[in-house]
Parts: sequence; structure tokens; C-alpha cells
Amino acid sequence: MAKWEYTDKPMHSEHRRADTRYVDKDLATQCLHAGERWEKQYFWTSSTPIYNSTTFFYDSAQDLDDRVYYRKPGYVYARGGSPTNTTLERALSTLEVAEVTHVCSSGMAASHLALLTAGAGKGELILCSSDVYGSVYTMVENIFPHLGSPSILMDFTDLNRLEDAIQREKPRVVYFEVVTNPMTKVIDAPAVIEMAHRHGAAVIVDNTFTTPYLLKPFEIGADFVTHSVTKFLSGHGDVLAGSVSCYRKDFDELHDMLIQVGCTLGPNEAWLALRGLKTFPLRMERQCANAAEVARFLEAHPLIQKVRYAGLPSHPQYETAKRIFPEGRYGAMLNFDIADCDKDKAFRFLDSLKLVLPATTLGDIYSLIVNPARTTHHWLNEEELATIGISPGTFRMSVGIENVEDLKEDLDQALRACQNKEVRP
Ligand code: PLP
Repeated sequence: MAKWEYTDKPMHSEHRRADTRYVDKDLATQCLHAGERWEKQYFWTSSTPIYNSTTFFYDSAQDLDDRVYYRKPGYVYARGGSPTNTTLERALSTLEVAEVTHVCSSGMAASHLALLTAGAGKGELILCSSDVYGSVYTMVENIFPHLGSPSILMDFTDLNRLEDAIQREKPRVVYFEVVTNPMTKVIDAPAVIEMAHRHGAAVIVDNTFTTPYLLKPFEIGADFVTHSVTKFLSGHGDVLAGSVSCYRKDFDELHDMLIQVGCTLGPNEAWLALRGLKTFPLRMERQCANAAEVARFLEAHPLIQKVRYAGLPSHPQYETAKRIFPEGRYGAMLNFDIADCDKDKAFRFLDSLKLVLPATTLGDIYSLIVNPARTTHHWLNEEELATIGISPGTFRMSVGIENVEDLKEDLDQALRACQNKEVRP
């Protein structure tokens, strides 16, 4: 068999591209319609069905052969793709103004695939922001170096130091999140991307916190955009999913990586993510407004020492945030320190909450809170925590769609209750 027949895949990306019927429409319309009702059966369905089939066959051997060799778009075996998944892929390509998207089984799978495709799979140097999701940090620090791809992790807020490092080390891959976890630092994404490109690196942006509601990284030059679809995009805390969007030129490799690593998204999960996506802009509008209000409330609260929210003028990168999020939306993630707070007080605060859920995920319709020192960053020692800025009294909050007055009331009563050492909630 000629080699090109394996490597040149003209049609495997076509049905995963943006939905041309909706590319010019508003995000709200795109979330409802993009990707859906793509091909007529003998009827239309308003929502794409869940195709729980592991294999696909056709009327003739030639038809199957055309799919095996990617001469026509379609499906062969569900690890490589299936119709419910491609509906989600078209929707995400549309939202992210991406050329092509592949969904996968989790946000971690997405970061892994993007890194492999961008060069980490070929032993290239990775330069990664040190303020990334903990498991991504560990993967870049521990797994890739053992597989032959060295890595450097550093703070991306100091652009001069970053440029020195890029110039000196010549990384092939640069990876970062625009609003960081858990400290909500804002990275100057356009500047970092421009700098990385000037020195020949490919850039992966994890857009999980910012989402296309705040920022579309392809519009500022990103090469790959990843998501934990588990979070804001699906939004209901009922599904794990990830996505990688990229240019067509990188897609053959991404597709092969996904098939060979085997981190395919199940069709039931794809459908749940699609259903969640329909209300994504509505949820985000409310969540961003609630977060801004909760941030202002906490900043004025006498029992709070510090609040970090990208939309507050007191935030160290507020000017950067205003420039890169021109719509004036700053997301639903915030971070605060309770004054004079040790572990016991932190636990009393969490135990006193009646509405906000003390749970480790983020991006859901429910407000969620964690104490990073004891959860997301529990493996770091005190010195390492202090370097990041995490104290025993630091909390990360993902603000949901509840009535904001109810949220403020809940936070206030828990803040007051936790001051009293005698009272157990
Ligand atoms: N990226 C970010 C910014 C995250 O917060 C997370 C998880 O919290 C991930 C990636 C990994 O996503 P998942 O849990 O879907 O694997």
C-alpha cells in the first residue's frame, strides 16, 4: 500500500470543522445550533441522537474502504470518532473559531494530546506556566521528561524573564492558562503568543477558565486550544470531557494520537456535554455577574483579608485583564483569604456553608469552593504554598447561578460562624 494512503487524510477533518451555517452568528445562537442537524436521515431530530454503536458499516465494501482511507468523511470504529462526538466537535470549532476540533475523554487527555501533537511526543522542550492545573503541572514536570521531552515551569506574568527564557532555551512548545488556578493571575496572552512565535515555538492555550465567552485564543494567534469541557462548557457537573482545537495541518497527527492513546469520549458523555453547551452563554452571563458582585462584597467584608478577582481594580493584573477581555467580563473564578485563618478556622468556614458546595471541581451551575492548601495543592509543603501565595486561609470559589443575595448571605454567616471556636456547625 502506498504510504501516502495512510498519511494523507483528506476527509477525516471535514465534519469536525466549524459549522458554516452559524460562523457569523452570536455565541448564544452558535451554542444552540452549531453542529446539530448536519445530515438528513429520513426525518430531522432537534437534538443529535446518542450513537451507542462501536462500529459502522456501509452498503458496499467500497464505501467502507473510502472511510478507512479517509477519502470520504464518516466513521469506521468508534475509538476514532462517532456522530454524537462530531456534533460536539463542530460546535466547539464554531465557538473557538478553530479550523478543527477533536473531543476526548477529559481535560487532562486534551492537554496530553495537545502536548504530544505540538512536539512533546518528539522529545522537544516544553516551556509551561507554573500556574497551571495541578495534574498538568505534574505531567509536564514528571511524565514528559521521562519520555524524552524536558520541561521548564515558570511564572508567565514577568514578560521580560519569560522572553529571556524563550530566547535562551528555545522551547518547541509553550503552554499556559490565561487566568490561573487557583490565584487568578492574568497572563498577557497576546504578548506571550507573539513572543513564542517570534522564537519559533507553538503555543497551547488552556481556555477552560476563560472560555470563548471571554476570549478566543485563535483570534490572538494560538496554535492549539484545549478545554476541560467538564467545566463551564458543559456546566452541570455531570460529565467528564475534553477537547483540542487546532489547525488542519496539525490534525492528522492529533487524530492519530487520539486513536493510539485511546482517550476517546463516549457518545453518552458527548451528548451530555452538548446539552450543557446549549445554555453556556446564559450561564456565563449570570456567573460572571454573580462573581463580580461576590468579589465586591467580600472585598468590603471585615473578616476578609484579600480578594483576587480579575475584574477588581485591586487585582495586580487588572489593566491586562481590561485589555484582553474587552467585553468587560472577567469570568466566574475568584480567590480570597480569610483574615487570621488557620486550618481549623478554614474547616469551620467550609463546614458552616449551607449553600455553597465545598467541592473540588469548578465551572458548574452550583457555587463551589475549595481550600487549595488542603485539596488541589495538598502535596506542596508550606514553603512551596507560600511561594504561590496560598495560605491556610486561601479559598478558590467558582461562582454559580444562584441568586447572588443568597450567596452573599451564606458566605457572610459562614464567615461569622467560623470565628467561634466553640460552635460546631
Ligand atoms: N485544565 C484546567 C484549567 C482544569 O481546571 C482542569 C481540571 O480541573 C483540567 C484542565 C483537567 O480537566 P479534567 O478534570 O476534565 O481532566
